[in-house]
Amino acid sequence: MNNHHLLQRSLQAVWHPCTQMKHHERYPLVPIARGEGAWLFDTEGKGYLDAVSSWWVNLFGHNQPTIKEAIKAQLDQLEHVMLAGFTHAPVVELSEKLSALTGLGHAFYASDGASATEIALKMSFHYWRNIGQPQKTKFISLQNSYHGETLGALSVTDVAIFKDTYAPLILQSAQMPSPDSRLAEDGESEEAYALRCAEALEHYVAQHHAELAAFIIEPLVQGAAGMAIYHAVYLKRAREICSRYQVHLIADEIAVGFGRTGTMFACEQAGGKVSDIADFICLSKGITGGYLPLSVVLTTDAIYQAFYHDQTVKGFLHSHSYTGNPLACAAALATLKLFEASDVLGDNQHTARQLWAAAAQYDLPFGPVRQRGMITAFEVDTPNPQFARDCYAAALKHGLLLRPIGNTVYWMPPYCLTVADIEHLVQATRAAVVESL
Ligand SMILES: *Cc1c(COP(=O)(O)O)cnc(C)c1O
Repeated sequence: MNNHHLLQRSLQAVWHPCTQMKHHERYPLVPIARGEGAWLFDTEGKGYLDAVSSWWVNLFGHNQPTIKEAIKAQLDQLEHVMLAGFTHAPVVELSEKLSALTGLGHAFYASDGASATEIALKMSFHYWRNIGQPQKTKFISLQNSYHGETLGALSVTDVAIFKDTYAPLILQSAQMPSPDSRLAEDGESEEAYALRCAEALEHYVAQHHAELAAFIIEPLVQGAAGMAIYHAVYLKRAREICSRYQVHLIADEIAVGFGRTGTMFACEQAGGKVSDIADFICLSKGITGGYLPLSVVLTTDAIYQAFYHDQTVKGFLHSHSYTGNPLACAAALATLKLFEASDVLGDNQHTARQLWAAAAQYDLPFGPVRQRGMITAFEVDTPNPQFARDCYAAALKHGLLLRPIGNTVYWMPPYCLTVADIEHLVQATRAAVVESL
């Protein structure tokens, strides 16, 4: 089948996500045939360096042998069994490992990030109800936050383009000032600004805690806000405030988990384990190395115990058909094995330094480069209102998959970048930016 036919059929048969389909009259789809390392190859063999890890899911590259073999081996044993009333070794092993890594436990599985957000919100609400505080029904999040696009998740998401149209369908929630360090005043440090935002949080929580169930937050980096990075002290203060006023803290590490920000989980940068900061953690995206859909919510023993009861309705009432799918769990176990097999976080530090140095040397009209681990970003100063789309299209011509958010250009590549990959990434990004100013 030639490319042209495949593209035409896709536009007829497939409704693509996050896409105004009419724009494909001008911007053709890219038909991908295979992947290898940090690269994707189209049906005519042209390569694209995957600088966004295929929407932030891929960690160790495409066609990764360890993960591929683990899925194949699992496929010969058991492809799927329902997790109500049944269990299997991959789900048990994965749950134990995630518990050891985070300090939280009682893993509840789903298949995508938005579902993990829904689960954490429902669990928090239901916990308060079970312990006799049914008035705690409200949620708060940060300005410009992103927690997924199903109706509950959209309620705590604060990105106008995703939310405004559906506003009549969703729950009310309040948004707290974002500690995004780009919003600090001149001369104000990242830390001082984060502390100022924490004060505003405390002010709100002190007044509303009686009806608040939980505060949900993307630790350290608000991805969809344009890689908004903030000081870890905010997480520490948020934990203290939530503890003082009996409000749950939900860490949405769907994008930042599994080494992305330089530590295994972003919460760790506030000192200690995830369980020192969060009552719930939501994980997805990188959990299977980008191979299969899987998400999980982990929580504390105390929250779990509030559901442990003779009455069915006191139990957590939630299920998905593919909960705890063995193939996805096998992929996740293989991904964790790759973290154990070598010093991934240490190697990433080296790669990140190279990326930072390269970006800092650009002769482009752009603001300071910012970075947390394997997330690097900078703002481009341009009058072009279509900069993001033009830059995306220009990058494709140069063999690069880059998806700027507004005027923010960011790299969130797989961890397996070679020296040659970095060189290509840096050159092609520069060319694409220059052509779309
Ligand atoms: C991607 C993302 C989600 C939603 O995950 P999906 O699998 O796309 O539903 C939620 N929260 C954060 C922080 C994300 O980056």
